[in-house]
Amino acid sequence: MRRIKTSPGQYLNQLFSISKNYKRFNQRFDIFNRSMWDDSIDPKAFYVSYDITNYKPKKSEGFKHWDYALRNASWHLTDFIGERNPERVEGFTDYYTLHTQGPPQKMELPAPEECSQRIKRAAAMLGAGMTGICEIDERWIYSHNFSRQTGEAKPFDLPEHLKYAIIIITPMDYELTKTIPSAIGGSSTGIGYTTSLACANGLAQFITNLGYEAVASLNDTALSIPMAIQAGLGEYGRNGLLITPKYGPRVRISKVFTDLPLAIDQPIEFGVKQFCNSCRKCADGCPAKAIDQGKAQDSPPNISSHSGIKKWTVNAEKCFKFWVNMNTDCAICIRVCPYNKDYSKWWNRWAIKLSDSFLRKLLLKLDNWLGYGQRKKPDEWWNLDNLK
Ligand code: SF4
Ligand code: SF4
Repeated sequence: MRRIKTSPGQYLNQLFSISKNYKRFNQRFDIFNRSMWDDSIDPKAFYVSYDITNYKPKKSEGFKHWDYALRNASWHLTDFIGERNPERVEGFTDYYTLHTQGPPQKMELPAPEECSQRIKRAAAMLGAGMTGICEIDERWIYSHNFSRQTGEAKPFDLPEHLKYAIIIITPMDYELTKTIPSAIGGSSTGIGYTTSLACANGLAQFITNLGYEAVASLNDTALSIPMAIQAGLGEYGRNGLLITPKYGPRVRISKVFTDLPLAIDQPIEFGVKQFCNSCRKCADGCPAKAIDQGKAQDSPPNISSHSGIKKWTVNAEKCFKFWVNMNTDCAICIRVCPYNKDYSKWWNRWAIKLSDSFLRKLLLKLDNWLGYGQRKKPDEWWNLDNLK
C-alpha cells in the first residue's frame, strides 16, 4: 500500500480529472430524494417492506417474515431516531446530529498528530473499523440540502468555520453479505447504518466534551466517498464504491465535521484502479446492468450523479428500480467483488498485496476458480453452526 505524496485535494483532481465545469451535487437529485418528488421513480414496493405491520413477505428463501423482521430490526434505531423529531429529521438522508452541550472552555490540546491519534483510538472504541482525517473540501459538500417535507432546499447544519472531517468506516457483516440478494442480507446495511450512527454521534459528543465543535453526519451534508479517499481510507472501484484495504467494498461511511485541530492523512493506493481495469465481476453480476463495463466517463447516465468528474458511475435509476422490484436493497456488486474478503485470514492479506502486481489477472482467475463471491443460501445464515 502506497501513501500518496501530493496534496489530497490535488490527488482527487488528478484521479477524477475534475473539470472547471464541475458543480457540487444537489441532494435533491439523490435517487432516494428523487423518489419523493419525481413521478418517474416509483418506490412504493420498496418502502412498504420497511413497515412489517403491513408487509406480506414472500415464501422464497431469504425473503420470508423472519428475514424482513430482522432486516427491519437492524434499521430500528436509525429509523426511530430519524422519526423522533419529524420537524428536524426527515429520513435517512437527513441530519442525525444528537449532541448535548459541552463545557464552556476548550481543553488544552497536545499537538495535532497526538489529537488525531486519540480521535482514532476513541473512534475504534466506539465501533469504527477504520478512521481517517481530511480537511473539508467544499467540492464534496452538497450545493443544497433537500427537505422531504417542503420539497425545497433546506438550510445547512454545518458551521462554516469547521475545518476538518473525520471519516469513519463501519464494516458490514461478511456472512450476511454472502446471502445477497435477500432481505436478510439487507440487515448488513441496516446494522451498518445503526453502528455508524452510534459511532459518529459518540465521537462528535467526545469532541464536544473537549470544548470543541463537532457535527456528526451520515448521508446528509456531503458526499462520503471522495472524502474517504481524501482521508486515506481506500480507492474508488468500478462498482462506484469505496474499496478499503481492510474490508474491501463491504463498508458504510459516516463523518464528523469539527474545528478540533487535527493532523490529516494522505490518500492511499493499493492497485484497485488497475485491478478494476482487468475485472468486470460487479458489472457482470449486476442484474440491473447498472454498472459500466467500459472506461470511466465524465458524463453521468442521469441526473442522480454529478457531472464534470470522470469516473465509473452506477446508473442509480436502473439500480434503484431493481431494489424496488426485489422489495429490499441489493449489494451484489459488494458480494461478488474480489476485494470482498475476510482479511483476518493471512492468505487474503497476501492476496490483496499480490493484487497490486503483475499477478492480478492470475488472482482474478483464482478468485473465480475458488468460487469466491457466489451466493450463499440465505437459510444457512440462520444455522447456529455457521456462527464464527
Ligand atoms: S446494488 Fe445491485 S442493482 Fe445496484 S449496482 Fe449493485 S449489483 Fe447492480
Ligand atoms: S468487482 Fe472487480 S471491477 Fe468491480 S469493483 Fe470489484 S475489483 Fe473492481
